Amino acid sequence: MAIAHSVLNFQSYSSNALSAQESQLIQTYVEQFGAPLLLLDCDIIRQQYRALSHALPNVTLHFALKPLPHPVVVQTLLEEGASFDLATSGEVELVASQNVPAERTIHTHPIKRDQDIRDALEYGCTVFVVDNINELEKFIPYREQVELLIRLSFRNSEAFADLSRKFGCSTTQALELIAKAKQWNIHIKGLSFHVGSQTVNPQKYVDAINTCREVMEQVIELNLPALSTLDIGGGFPVSYNSQVMPIDLFCQPINQALALLPETVQVIAEPGRFIVAQAMTSVASVMGQAERDGQIWYYLDDGIYGSFSGLMFDDAKYPLTTLKKNDQVLPSVLAGPTCDSIDVVAENILLPKLDNGDLVIGRMMGAYTSATATDFNFFKRAQTILLNESSLCENKMLG
Ligand SMILES: *Cc1c(COP(=O)(O)O)cnc(C)c1O
Repeated sequence: MAIAHSVLNFQSYSSNALSAQESQLIQTYVEQFGAPLLLLDCDIIRQQYRALSHALPNVTLHFALKPLPHPVVVQTLLEEGASFDLATSGEVELVASQNVPAERTIHTHPIKRDQDIRDALEYGCTVFVVDNINELEKFIPYREQVELLIRLSFRNSEAFADLSRKFGCSTTQALELIAKAKQWNIHIKGLSFHVGSQTVNPQKYVDAINTCREVMEQVIELNLPALSTLDIGGGFPVSYNSQVMPIDLFCQPINQALALLPETVQVIAEPGRFIVAQAMTSVASVMGQAERDGQIWYYLDDGIYGSFSGLMFDDAKYPLTTLKKNDQVLPSVLAGPTCDSIDVVAENILLPKLDNGDLVIGRMMGAYTSATATDFNFFKRAQTILLNESSLCENKMLG
């Protein structure tokens, strides 16, 4: 066994330590509700929304529901004045249930069924995204009511999710679509893109914005109707185990690129992860343990099929810690509860010796975690506990 080698790969543990106050709070919630839990702090949602609004002062922020489609997140952001980015009829239902004015929403799924379009229109959402002619044609019956964005593709192999592999068209195709739309009398409002989720290099946005500006100029040269909107998508990064740029600094070159657009162009964005990642903390407890191959395996009541689904679907590596204050740490494995062998949350992690019932805390667990969790093996999903929720939300606990 190559202990000496694997020590280099050990995840840092001590830097994620919790304050005494946080530890106390977590213990109180576990006494009251049991484990596993997800603690959702609405104050952090507010703080992140304000930070991004400050960093992008001339951009309307449409929160993308996908990473954490929770009614209280919608309510909290609605009160902050946010707009919303929807992709499915389920998400339309969620914002409608929270009385979000439809004018504050856009529907950005590039591929829709006729029913999806009708559901959104019935709610009052009139802005949609297309990236191909087949999709454009679906809007002919609704051309009196809709305004469309054309989604462009900019590949990004470094992102957690390169969303331009599956969606988006080339600049040439965009111009063809805009010409076709003119012929069909469909209003094209503007362009959109998504540089990829957790994009740590702002140059990706700058390049995409510059290309969109060129397309907008070509539209004018070709005597097509001028575009009035640029949607710069989501992708804004957060710090998991490694530090990313502070958001103000990250957005500086983006703002500079946006400043070169004609003044008539309104800019919007679709942040998801940035708003919610930091807002949720997971709490799992140790169900049992065994020594295998020189490491201690702790079996938690939450894992890959539950709150840690992002380890599978999202590439995220969550900072993990325990409530035990103990200088002596041991090479450990944290496994999930199911009978599947891929259900491992962390290997080669240095942890104090834990007892059954001890708690393991995951930070940065708000984005793409519970949203992609399953009920595999009938292990119950973690219960969500709301902290600092809006006075308008009466339920102390949802989900
Ligand atoms: C997922 C998604 C978002 C949110 O992306 P983040 O990387 O979480 O900011 C925004 N827009 C669209 C179209 C998406 O699919």
